[in-house]
This record gives sequence, structure tokens and C-alpha cells, in this order.
Amino acid sequence: MSLTRPPAEFSALIAELRNFMDTVVIPSEDLKTAHDGDAINKQASELRVEALKRGLRAPRRAVSDGGLGLSWEECCFFLEEAGRSFLGPTTLQCAAPGQPDIAALEKLASPWQRERYLEPLARGDIRSCFAMTEPAPGAGSDPRMLKTTATRTDSGWVINGDKWFISGAVRADFAIVVARSDAGVSWFLVDKSNPGFRVVRDIPTMEPFDAGGHGEIRLENCKVGPQALVGEEGKGLEHAQLRLEGARLFHCMRWIGLSSRAMSVAQDYAAGRDSFGTRLSEHQMVQSMVADAHISLYAARLMTLDVARKLDRGESIRHESSMAKVFVSEAVNKVADSAVQIAGAPGISEDLPLSMILRMLRPFRIYDGASEVHRAAIARRAFSKRLSA
Ligand SMILES: Cc1cc2nc3c(=O)[nH]c(=O)nc-3n(C[C@H](O)[C@H](O)[C@H](O)COP(=O)(O)OP(=O)(O)OC[C@H]3O[C@@H](n4cnc5c(N)ncnc54)[C@H](O)[C@@H]3O)c2cc1C
Repeated sequence: MSLTRPPAEFSALIAELRNFMDTVVIPSEDLKTAHDGDAINKQASELRVEALKRGLRAPRRAVSDGGLGLSWEECCFFLEEAGRSFLGPTTLQCAAPGQPDIAALEKLASPWQRERYLEPLARGDIRSCFAMTEPAPGAGSDPRMLKTTATRTDSGWVINGDKWFISGAVRADFAIVVARSDAGVSWFLVDKSNPGFRVVRDIPTMEPFDAGGHGEIRLENCKVGPQALVGEEGKGLEHAQLRLEGARLFHCMRWIGLSSRAMSVAQDYAAGRDSFGTRLSEHQMVQSMVADAHISLYAARLMTLDVARKLDRGESIRHESSMAKVFVSEAVNKVADSAVQIAGAPGISEDLPLSMILRMLRPFRIYDGASEVHRAAIARRAFSKRLSA
């Protein structure tokens, strides 16, 4: 167990969070404003004032930096609760892409970068995005296909390239741009106000809401100073792996919470609706979907917890985080799909939050590594390292 505080104190914190989610955050949800990033951000900022009064702060940030300083294991409980509402993670300062960007910059940022980017980002004064994926023929699943270049000049670097599906880009104040320099793949901090940086469009997706959109970006003769380089030149792929492993785990935690809520809504529906002379909840095929959802989420929680504990112990999680990501992303999608099925026609409407939850969860089987890419990597390691299943 990696608890940062006595169990009773931690239980009280989670009980407070659950109460806040049930009595304040979930009742504030308005599925109509869920499509409007500006409205979500405004609402989340207002809710954050109340959260802070209750001692509910950025879970992973150090206490000395104004956070709760929770371990990865403790975050499993915190983020599952926060994840039950689409407003929760933004309100509670644990939404992507900000949270993984903060975690990465805490490890890699220079003192100048800390002051200029990390501190205001962690306070919620500015927003970030992480720009790695490129349109064909650039990098998607295969990062070795990266085409964006960073060329060294007398006064810093000039970056050229195209990025897309960059979460948060539309409302971000700066981007962490992944580009190829002489020494290999490297990270650079680029202000949105840089004349060489342009968000070409917000790509419409099936996701019902995203506080910052999914931007397509053009970097054209984008000049940055020498201080824009993050960490060591040429180590960008290692940095990305570091960022991604934590980001992936946080997504598992949040989406377990959201799919669990979907099944609760479906169970309530089944308990109150009759068909063929009995309650839906009495039909064995409905019971089977409910039972399978409970079994899947139980396994998903345990896998996520195990990876979190390994991270707390400083162990490598490369193999386990791949396995957990595939399992959890597929499990939460199946649970949300069953929830829609159980609720019948209202399930696909926006009278209930179910169809929205399903649309939020579907892309998780693609981002942070598509299921097929993880399966290929798991099998490769199994053969090359002769791992037992
Ligand atoms: C909602 C959302 C948010 C995103 N946010 C960001 C972001 O903030 N920043 C960012 O940089 N990127 C982001 N992305 C992009 C994401 O990282 C990529 O979509 C992902 O890496 C896959 O790349 P691709 O879409 O180019 O798919 P491709 O690489 O073209 O692959 C397409 C499909 O082919 C299959 N496939 C690929 N390789 C293999 C293989 N080796 N074996 C078997 N099958 C394979 C998989 O089914 C895969 O889904 C986001 C994507 C989505 C959907």
C-alpha cells in the first residue's frame, strides 16, 4: 500500500469528494452546455471555488505546490470519483492534457520554464496541449515517422511541420511540440501567440464535449529561443513514453468512474421500467449485462491499482500499463455500450447521459496507443523476453 496519510483520513477525503460529486457537480451538469468548451471551462472554474473550500485540490501535485500530494495508488480512488462527471476532472484539476503535461514538466522543466509555463499551468491560469501526432505521411501510431523538424539557428530553433488531433489546442496558451532535431526527437515549448504557430481548425469528432477541442496545427518558420528546448535534446521519445504512461493510467481511472456511472444509471432505469409483465431488472439477459459490467469493472480497477502501485514503487510499468490500457479501454466501452442497450431508446438520447458517455469513451481505444498497437507490443515482449502469461 502506498498511502500518503492515515487510512481514515484518506477515506474521509474520498467521502468528501463523493459527496461533492453527488450533491454539487453531477446536479450542475447540463448536457446542452456539454458541447460548448467555453461554457464547460467557466462552469468548472466556478465549481473549483467550492472544491477548494472543501480541501479538494489537484490530486497529484505536491502539497508544497498547493496540491494534495496523493500517491498513484490514492489517485485511483480520487480520479475514479472525479471521473464520474464530465465536469469533474476539469473542476478538480486532474483533466487531460493539463495533468500529464504538468507531471512531465515537473520532471523536465528548467527553472525558467517552471516559472514561465509550469507554475501558471498548475495554478490553472494558462492551458497547455501536447502536439505529437501528424497527418499522413507523419507520425501516428509509429513515432519513428515524425516529420516535424526543429533546425538549430544562431538564436535558437526554427520549427516546421503539421500536427493534428491535438487535444486542448484550440484554447491552449502554449504547446509542447515534438519535433526532429539533429540529435533526434526533442520537445519544445511554443507559445500560441508565436507568429509561426497557427491552429488551422478544430477537428469535429464524435466526442460530445472537449474543453479545448482537437486542433490541427501548422508550424511555419516558427522561431523559438534556446530556452524552449525541454529536457535533453534527442530524448523526446523517452520523455513522451514517460508522459504517456502516467497519462494512460489517469485515463483508465477517470473512465472507470464514468462507465461505472453509466451502469448505475442503466440499473436505475432497469429497476423502474416494466416489459413483458415484469421489471427489466428481472430479465436474465439484462441481469447478465449488469453482472458482466460489474465483473469487468472489478478487474479493470484491480489492474489499474496494480500498475499504480508499481509506479509508486518506481518499477517499470511498460508491459503492465499496455495490458491495463487495452483491458480497461475495451471494458469501459463494453460497459457503456451495455448501459445504452439496457436503457433502450432513452439510452441513445440526451435525456440520459449514456450516449454521451459512450461517445466520450470510444476514442480511448485509439489514443494513448490503439489496442492493436499495444497487443503487438505485448506479444513482441512476450516472445523476445520469453515472458510467461
Ligand atoms: C480523441 C483523441 C485525442 C487525441 N489527442 C492527442 C493529443 O493531445 N496529442 C497528440 O499528439 N495526439 C493525440 N491524438 C492522436 C493519437 O495519439 C493517435 O490517433 C494515435 O497515436 C494513433 O495514430 P493514428 O490516428 O494516426 O492511427 P494510425 O497510426 O494511422 O493507425 C490506424 C489504426 O491502424 C491500426 N494499427 C496501427 N498500427 C498497428 C500495428 N502495429 N499493428 C496492428 N494494427 C495497427 C490500429 O487499429 C489503429 O487504430 C488523439 C486522438 C484522439 C482520437
